Amino acid sequence: MPGIAENLSAVRADIAAAERKCGREGMVRLLAVSKTCSPGQVREAFMAGQCEFGENYVQEALDKIAALDDLPLVWHFIGPIQSNKTRSIAEAFAWVHSVDRLKIAERLSAQRDPARDALNVCLQVNVSGEESKSGVAPADLPTLAEAVARLPGLKLRGLMCIPEPTPDEMLLRSRFRLLAGLLADLRRRLPGAPLDTLSMGMSGDMSLAIAEGANIVRVGTAIFGARAAHSATQ
Ligand SMILES: *Cc1c(COP(=O)(O)O)cnc(C)c1O
Repeated sequence: MPGIAENLSAVRADIAAAERKCGREGMVRLLAVSKTCSPGQVREAFMAGQCEFGENYVQEALDKIAALDDLPLVWHFIGPIQSNKTRSIAEAFAWVHSVDRLKIAERLSAQRDPARDALNVCLQVNVSGEESKSGVAPADLPTLAEAVARLPGLKLRGLMCIPEPTPDEMLLRSRFRLLAGLLADLRRRLPGAPLDTLSMGMSGDMSLAIAEGANIVRVGTAIFGARAAHSATQ
């Protein structure tokens, strides 16, 4: 079985190939999704040159971040956010991709230490209509984005989506294209905001997402192997 370093090389090669295909060389960052992985596996990925990691479960992430605090890692929170976890997220992470409500954004902003850089935030958009529960509806996005852009502890960087699983590549591409269009629209509405991030694409669909303009892909399985179902409580 290939190890983490080999998997990372293969994923990087796939990203580079997808970038070349659409003339976007060097435009895509790899976020290694390390949920359910051990600190040892994250360390192995770091030794192979990976610095940015994504986590879904707050308590698991806090333990891992503490165990790895000798390394210069950049942590991204990408999971559902409960309001009683915002303080931990605001303290331990550099990025949050999964903000979809103003109340959560306000708490993250208020709880971010003002002496530190603002917390980088992407708004999660529900691009699949009724088939998905998380994410702000496209129609409600402008109002949410305008409010989040005003919060002093946050830096609104862009949008994130998790389309419904489907083997239909045309459908998936249309979901990614929708997110890219929504970001272009927000750039017109909020000309001063640093809206440079489209977080979309995972192990199974990152090439499609890159073709539609992704600049962060979130990849777990293709780097760390298949996960067991998550059973820990948050
Ligand atoms: C788990 C997860 C990923 C990675 O998924 P893989 O299919 O393992 O690459 C990406 N984004 C989010 C939000 C996730 O929860």
